[in-house]
Amino acid sequence: METNSFWINSLTNKQLELILLITEQCNFRCTYCYEDFKLGKMAPYVIEGVKNVIKKRIAGLDILSLSFFGGEPLLNKENVLELSQWAADICKEHDVKYLCDMTTNGYMLNEIVFEKLIHSGVMSYQITLDGEKQSHNEFRHTLKGEPTFDRIYSNIIMMANTKHNFYCTIRFNIADSNFNSVKSFINNYSSPFANDKRFSIHFHPIFGNSEFKLTNEDKLQELKKLAQIKGFKNDIPYKNSSCYASNANSFVIRADGRIQKCTVSLESDINNIGKIQKDGSMCINEEKFKKWIFAYDKGCPSSFLTNEKQNTPTGPAGKSQ
Ligand code: SF4
Repeated sequence: METNSFWINSLTNKQLELILLITEQCNFRCTYCYEDFKLGKMAPYVIEGVKNVIKKRIAGLDILSLSFFGGEPLLNKENVLELSQWAADICKEHDVKYLCDMTTNGYMLNEIVFEKLIHSGVMSYQITLDGEKQSHNEFRHTLKGEPTFDRIYSNIIMMANTKHNFYCTIRFNIADSNFNSVKSFINNYSSPFANDKRFSIHFHPIFGNSEFKLTNEDKLQELKKLAQIKGFKNDIPYKNSSCYASNANSFVIRADGRIQKCTVSLESDINNIGKIQKDGSMCINEEKFKKWIFAYDKGCPSSFLTNEKQNTPTGPAGKSQ
């Protein structure tokens, strides 16, 4: 039987990846967002459960990876900081490599917050900008409808002006309507971080909403070439062969303790594979779990399993692989 190295590696229990929806509330209402914001901050018993899962597994791990996701994770920064510092400490104690990233809209990522995050071990960030000011503000505004570009852009510049050794992906969600604006952004706004190896760029079509269609995906290549000319290093390809959701040791933990595999199909029944308990037990539906693992070669396992028309496992603010 032919397999690929992703699948073999995904089965090792020496790695554990937990994607934590630390709050499901958001201070933005992006026009293309798929979330329903029904849940709030992660329940204290769920956070306790996450720590107990890690305690149970830590002795056998080489790598622990925590991804803070939402909603907007910085609306619950107290729990992010506490949990990341706790995880960094326990990893140090057991000589385990600790990787920690955050998908944030960047609006609350000021200098004080950034310093605290870095010191708690959050070293990798994904922040979305959808073009120049006008186009970005049309797509990504606050809950009250206020513009967000200036504040996010100045926070990114602040990050670039520090000496910290972080990694930041700036993501652009592309539709026909903002293509030219993204191009202008790369030409006119990207120079403060274009040749900075800590920054990379990721272009991704918006999906799930025909209003924001990208009719010609070759345009992504055009943007990628432009970004390379401007000095950005290569980034993850738009279409990967495998997805984190098919990794046997990757779990999404919802704010209410539900265990899922994918950060996009949040309401699909097949994605609800179990529930975390306060003592760190993970009650998993094995039949559903197996379906995700054996869909590793389907590109986007979520699309395959739900028959929904999603062209990739990453959503509007979705987790990069
Ligand atoms: S896409 Fe992200 S930042 Fe925008 S409303 Fe949804 S969760 Fe919030």
